[in-house]
Amino acid sequence: MGSIITEDGVTIHDYSVLLHPSNITAEYQELKHKFKEQLTHRLKLRVEAAVDESARQNREDLRRYWTKLKSWRQGSFPINGLLPCYGEFRRLDISKVLLQKNTDKSQAMRDDRERLWVELNSNVDTQSHIRDQVNAWLDDKRAKLATKLGCKHPELETAGGFLHPVERINAWFICTNCSQKNRKALSFKDVCGHQCSTPTRKDRLKAHWDINWFEPDMKVSSCFLG
Ligand SMILES: [Zn+2]
Repeated sequence: MGSIITEDGVTIHDYSVLLHPSNITAEYQELKHKFKEQLTHRLKLRVEAAVDESARQNREDLRRYWTKLKSWRQGSFPINGLLPCYGEFRRLDISKVLLQKNTDKSQAMRDDRERLWVELNSNVDTQSHIRDQVNAWLDDKRAKLATKLGCKHPELETAGGFLHPVERINAWFICTNCSQKNRKALSFKDVCGHQCSTPTRKDRLKAHWDINWFEPDMKVSSCFLG
């Protein structure tokens, strides 16, 4: 900035330099750049919030659907609420895919996006994927528990339409992950839906489910296969 010093020693600043076209442009450009940066940042936050909200809604919808299935008493699936506990249900491949619904940035920002709850209740393909994967999960656990009961060929036992050995009235299990005093005799359905009793909420959130924890309760269990 230019300035003039008079004979009396007074400094007179020459502000006209600020009005020079090159300075106006530079200042304007800087403001414009800052404004653009702020807008981009705000948009990024909005997109992130929308993605988080979609993910939260998905978790809520999936859990609500599992609760609905658990109390469902009509049709052939699930039979009498026979389902994996929610922790295992959530880990099915189909659930992992469903939990991603509307979480890509373009979908999350759409006001007309379809909620997962709508898909779960109306999409026949989605329902059939869930049914197939739950049934595969149950078959796998039946087979593992049958081995623990010492049943070598459970498929022969069920060939005539009989109940699978692990689901018979004489098949009981205990969870070895629960403390001794909390161990109860569990039916196959109880095993599938079991949640270990843990003292604090924090532990409960960490709690997993593992088929290896379950052992036959020999006091009440027996298997008639050799
Ligand atoms: Zn347990």
